[in-house]
Amino acid sequence: MKLGLYGGTFSPPHMGHVRAAETFLREYALDRLYIMPASIPPHKQIDALDDPRHRFNMAKLAFEPLCRGGKCEVSALELERAGKSYTSDTLRELYAINGLCGRQAVYMLCGTDMFETMHQWHEPDVIFSLAHIVVARRERDDADMIAEQRSRVMRDFGAAVDVLHLTPLEISSTEVRDMLSRGGDPDSMILPEAVEDYIRRMGLYGTAGTE
Ligand code: ATP
Repeated sequence: MKLGLYGGTFSPPHMGHVRAAETFLREYALDRLYIMPASIPPHKQIDALDDPRHRFNMAKLAFEPLCRGGKCEVSALELERAGKSYTSDTLRELYAINGLCGRQAVYMLCGTDMFETMHQWHEPDVIFSLAHIVVARRERDDADMIAEQRSRVMRDFGAAVDVLHLTPLEISSTEVRDMLSRGGDPDSMILPEAVEDYIRRMGLYGTAGTE
């Protein structure tokens, strides 16, 4: 049983996320991929208006085509947890739910921004012992930084780290939010149509809202 984990704020989820998840699922021949919207990412400031329920609903819509294949699910595990949500706890829960044992049994996809600070996250020893890290590398990412950080966590934590090369889709949630708040209309190659419809219906990110 090969399990994958892909966490993020997903505010909103965009096609960069969807493509990364697709590549991860395929290249690692995963049996199950958990897409995990984070409740209160301890390492990331989050807007108080950023309702977790909306992020969960949008993730369901964005990843729906991938989930249709039966190997991917959007999980509410972190959103349902009271208080701060830590990756180490999520990994422990995934081990328990799936009856996993041994080291590094969960493949965990992350962007280079996340990877760079991972040694400072809560319980990094637990994270690196339970997860096999897969760093999604985009064209503009700093290869030297990735190599240095990889050496560091391998030395300090015995981490397992792969680098997965992604076809570049240079978009971030910040850019999508900015575009929407300025009255822009993101292309469906950037923002899945169902997610855009949801955002406009709910009036998120400065859009008018119809409900
Ligand atoms: P923000 O702009 O709000 O920081 P983001 O676009 O980076 O958001 P997150 O929810 O923080 O989105 O991302 C979840 C994970 O997906 C992170 O590990 C991030 O590095 C990665 N990621 C973000 N954008 C892309 C992209 N275009 N292609 C591949 N991976 C991405």
